[in-house]
Amino acid sequence: QQGERTRLVEAHKIAARFYAEQLDGPEAEIGRRFLAERGFDQASAQHFGVGYAPAGWDHLVRYLRGQGFSDKELTLSGLAQEARNGRPIDRFRGRLMWPIRDITGDVVGFGARKLREDDQGPKYLNTPETPIYRKSQVLYGIDLAKREIAKANRAVVVEGYTDVMACHLAGVTTAIATCGTAFGGEHVKILRRVLMDNSQSEVVFTFDGDAAGQKAALRAFEDDQKFAARTSIAITPGGMDPCDLRLAEGDDAVSKVVESRAPLFRFAMQSIVDRHNLDTAGGRSAALEEAAPVIAQIKDGGVQHESAVELAGLLGIVDEQFVVRRVGKLARWA
Ligand code: ATP
Ligand code: MN
Ligand code: MN
Ligand code: MN
Repeated sequence: QQGERTRLVEAHKIAARFYAEQLDGPEAEIGRRFLAERGFDQASAQHFGVGYAPAGWDHLVRYLRGQGFSDKELTLSGLAQEARNGRPIDRFRGRLMWPIRDITGDVVGFGARKLREDDQGPKYLNTPETPIYRKSQVLYGIDLAKREIAKANRAVVVEGYTDVMACHLAGVTTAIATCGTAFGGEHVKILRRVLMDNSQSEVVFTFDGDAAGQKAALRAFEDDQKFAARTSIAITPGGMDPCDLRLAEGDDAVSKVVESRAPLFRFAMQSIVDRHNLDTAGGRSAALEEAAPVIAQIKDGGVQHESAVELAGLLGIVDEQFVVRRVGKLARWA
């Protein structure tokens, strides 16, 4: 319904302005300090439209009512939620606010971070599913990055809002992030519309160098198979994320990590190989049995063959044709 979307987008536009103005007030000192400690000055906060949601129950609700929005529209938008008495209250309270825009630049939702350890709720709270916000379809930063992504024919996917900001400020202006969900098929569709439709287009996952980030990277391998683009992975050192890395080592370190990317399949192979003892025939065979099915999934025959040869090298198997045949057999049965 066109009219409904227009109203909800308008409410978000006003809310984004409201939150951004609140970031200048005395209550938002803790939010400004958070940004400064993360290496973001006022200009960069403004560039990304970062704001502050005041701590009271209904500051935004009252403001939007004053702008002619009905209680029904406020709850439908996700900006408000119904209290136990059925009245709308602000969903986001006492949090730092990142406006999430769609590819055309319309604000469709918010990501909100709590600022005090003992505040209630999760560290990050996002807009719930609404008629204009589907988390499986939003990519934070896509409005700012789309031109650069098209020009470079490459997109850099990071984990969080602060990571997108850090990357852009460090000159990696192709950075985008999913919003509190894994990178999936719907995100691929959006990226496909921006990337050139050729074999050179590339997606670089630059995830946190912690256990969760590595797991996410391996999960992305499954999507890789659905994705025409080349997929590579860059892992930040020392468990840091791009935002931490920029703070610790500066802008150049961020772009260097992205440059150091390796094909995702190599990363997936390496992580399997690392779990086995290659000094024994049993260990090599177990690693092969685990890794071969992964390579067998690769659709492109040439890439599949190359990967099998490379796996033989990783495993220290001299007869690489043995590995190629094993992979080929699995591929035919897949
Ligand atoms: P910060 O740097 O703000 O302290 P972080 O880097 O420790 O956060 P991670 O746990 O690495 O955060 O999560 C990566 C990103 O995923 C976050 O920056 C945030 O954008 C998003 N995220 C994390 N937890 C949630 C959640 N519960 N709901 C929605 N999004 C989340
Ligand atoms: Mn993490
Ligand atoms: Mn972080
Ligand atoms: Mn992180």
